[in-house]
Amino acid sequence: MSSPASEHTAAVNRSFADGLPLDDPADLGRVRHGRIAGLDRLVVQHDVHSHPILDTGEWDFLDGEEPPVTVNPSLWRQARLNREHGLYELMPGLYQVRGYDISNISLVEGDSGWIVIDPLTSTETARAAMDLVREHLGARPVTAVIYTHSHLDHFAGLAGVIELDELADRQVPIVAPKGFLKEAVSENVIAGPAMVRRAGYMYGNHLPRGPQGQVDCGLGRSIPAGSVSLVGPTHEIGATGEELTLDGVRIVFQFTPDAEAPAEMMFHFPHLRALCAAENCTSVMHNLYTLRGAQVRDALAWSKYINEALRLFGDTSDLVFASHNWPRVGAAEVRRYLRTQRDAYRFLHDQTMRLANQGLVMTEIAEELELPPSLASEFGNRGYYGTVNHNAKAVYQRYLGWFDGNPANLHPLPPAPAAARYVEYMGGAAAVLERARRDFDAGQYRWVAQVVNHVVFAEPENAEARELQALALEQLGYQAESGPWRNFYLTGAQELRRGKPPRLGGPGGRQAAALLRAMTVEMIFDLLGVRLDGPRADGEAVAIGWRFPDIGEEWTLRLEHSALSSWPAMDDDVDAVLTMSRHTLTSMLADPSSIGGAVADGSLTIDGDADALGRLFGLLEQPDPAFNIIEP
Ligand SMILES: [Zn+2]
Repeated sequence: MSSPASEHTAAVNRSFADGLPLDDPADLGRVRHGRIAGLDRLVVQHDVHSHPILDTGEWDFLDGEEPPVTVNPSLWRQARLNREHGLYELMPGLYQVRGYDISNISLVEGDSGWIVIDPLTSTETARAAMDLVREHLGARPVTAVIYTHSHLDHFAGLAGVIELDELADRQVPIVAPKGFLKEAVSENVIAGPAMVRRAGYMYGNHLPRGPQGQVDCGLGRSIPAGSVSLVGPTHEIGATGEELTLDGVRIVFQFTPDAEAPAEMMFHFPHLRALCAAENCTSVMHNLYTLRGAQVRDALAWSKYINEALRLFGDTSDLVFASHNWPRVGAAEVRRYLRTQRDAYRFLHDQTMRLANQGLVMTEIAEELELPPSLASEFGNRGYYGTVNHNAKAVYQRYLGWFDGNPANLHPLPPAPAAARYVEYMGGAAAVLERARRDFDAGQYRWVAQVVNHVVFAEPENAEARELQALALEQLGYQAESGPWRNFYLTGAQELRRGKPPRLGGPGGRQAAALLRAMTVEMIFDLLGVRLDGPRADGEAVAIGWRFPDIGEEWTLRLEHSALSSWPAMDDDVDAVLTMSRHTLTSMLADPSSIGGAVADGSLTIDGDADALGRLFGLLEQPDPAFNIIEP
C-alpha cells in the first residue's frame, strides 16, 4: 500500500547521517548498564479483550543496524535504543524496568519493600513489569508509590503494581506533586476526545509497524492501550526542599510545576546519590507543545528548574534517571547532561523571543532557528519527540498567541472555503495537480503537501489529489527525525488512502471513565459545560440542585444564555433537587440510560420537576471520536 522512498528521500536520509556520530556506543552502554534480565520477545495480553497490547516481536525489523532508506537514520538509532527492554540494576538498591511501556517504572529498595516510581500506563504492562521484578529480585511488598507527574503514562497502571484493595487496606502512601489530581484529570478530560483523536496520529497507533510504518515514538516504543486506573495521592509535595522518609528511605524533593507537566517534581535519594529527573530531562528534546494538543509549556521555567536541580543535587549525584529512556551514570556525566538539557530549553526560549522581537513571525522563526552544534551534537537534545521547529512555535505562541499581527491573517476564510477559492484562482484542480506533480518529482514534498491540501479540501473526492497528497506526506514521514512527525505524516497518508480506522476512540472512552471517578464534582460539571449544544440551548433555563450525602456536598447547576454554571451551594429556586451518591453521578454520566434504573432502585431521588434533568441532558451532545483531520 505504501510507496518506497524516492531518490530524493534516500539522498536526504543518507546525508542526514553525515556529521552525526550515529555509531557512538555511549547511549547503548547507558541502555544496557546493569541489565539483569529480559525476555527475547515480550507479549502482554489485554485483561479483557483477547488481543495483545504489546508484542515486541512487531519491532524485530529493527534488528538491522543499517537503516532502510524509508527511515531517518537518527530516528532508526533512537528506535533501536528504545526497543531494548528488561530489568536493570542502575545501582544497588535502584532498579528500572524499561521497554514494557512507553514509560519506565523505577523501584527503590526500602527497609521492608519497594518504593515504586511511576507505575506505567496500563495495569497489564505494570503487572508484567512487576512479575519480572519478582522473578529476579524476589517477592517484596510495595511500601510506597510516587507519581512524578500528572501524565497518564506515569500513574494509570497502578492496579498492576498492587491490588487497589490491598493499597487501601495497608494504607500504602502515594506521593505526588501538588495539584496532581486536578491536572491529571483536567489535562485529559475537557479536551480529551480531541486529544485522543490527535494522539492516534502522534503515536502512530493505527499504523502497521515496520520500515514503512510506525518505528518509534522517540520517547519510547509505543503506548499500550490497556486497562487504566487513577488513584489520587495521600501526600502532596508543594515545595522544593521538602523531605520525606518512605519505608526508611530519605527523599529530598524539588517541586517543578508548569514545566514538562503542570504538576511535576524531581527528587533526590541522598543515600544512593541518585537523582530522579521525572520527565524534565529525558534522552530527547521534549515537547514545549505536544502535537496531540495541550497547553503550551514554559521553556524558561523548565530550563530554570534543571539549573536548580544542578545546583541542589549536582554535587551529590552519581546517577540521574528519568521516567523515559535511559540513565546517565557518573558524577561528571550527570552534570554535563543536566547542563546540556538546561541549555537546550533555554536556547529555544531565548532565541525564539530574540527573533520575535526582531519582528519574525512563528513560521519564520521556526524556519531559521537551529540548535548550535554544541547542543545539536548531543543525541539527548535531538528532536526525536519535540522538534526545534514546533517548539519554537510553542515559545512564540506562549508569549504572543496565534495571531502574527498581520491584519491579512486576522480573519482568514476557514480551510474548506479558502481551498475552493485557491484552487479556482490557480486554474482548477487539474492544473494544480499537474504543477504539484512536477514539484513532487523535484522532491519539494513540503510544498506539495501544503498546496495539494487545498485540492483535497476543495474536492475531497478527487482520488488523484488524495494519492499525490499521500505520496508527499509519506516521503516527509520517511525523512522525519521525530517519531511523532513521522507518525503524523504516515497516518495522514494512510487515512487519505484507506479512510479512518474502525473503532476510533475506544481507549479514550475507557480512560475517560477511569478519570471520571477521580474527578471533583466541579470538574464533572465543567465537563458537562463543554458538551452543551450552545446554539440549541438558547432560550432554555434549567436549574438543578444536587445533593451528595456521602461526600457532604450540595451544588447548583444552572443553564441560562446557552451556558452552564455551577457553584457549591443549593439555590432556593432550583427546578429540581437530585439526591444521589458521588458514585451514582459517575454511572449516570458514563451511561445516561442508567438514570431510569437508578430512580427505580432508589439510588437517585428527584424532588420537584422530574423533567428538568431530561431537558438538560437532552441538550448535551457526544463528542465525535472520529472527526476528520486530513480532509474537510
Ligand atoms: Zn511520560
